[in-house]
Amino acid sequence: MSQDNKEEKSAICVRSELYEELMKEAEEKLYNVNEHIENIIDRHLNRNKMISKMWPGLQIAMVEKNNIVVINISERKFFDVKLHENFILCEQDKSAGCDHTAFVWMQAEDLQLDSKF
Ligand SMILES: [Zn+2]
Repeated sequence: MSQDNKEEKSAICVRSELYEELMKEAEEKLYNVNEHIENIIDRHLNRNKMISKMWPGLQIAMVEKNNIVVINISERKFFDVKLHENFILCEQDKSAGCDHTAFVWMQAEDLQLDSKF
């Protein structure tokens, strides 16, 4: 049996401007670009697993301009998370610190919240 522990690798294609940016980042962090991309994908997948573990019943139902509708599947309830100047507020809980706002914050990048503030 071979002692070779090399993991199998798949080839993926990314846009060249993304690749350039990732290369630059990888160089700054002294990673090779493959390791850097693997780390990013790993973190992304782990984050998603953590989100489903922490809030198994929550899902994003709809994204409008300044409103994100979160649905609690098991309770069949909707929550409007509204974007304000520099914070988000859950209308139903009148809270900036409930599960629904945390759920939205955890997905800020996916929801492109940075472009909405
Ligand atoms: Zn809430």
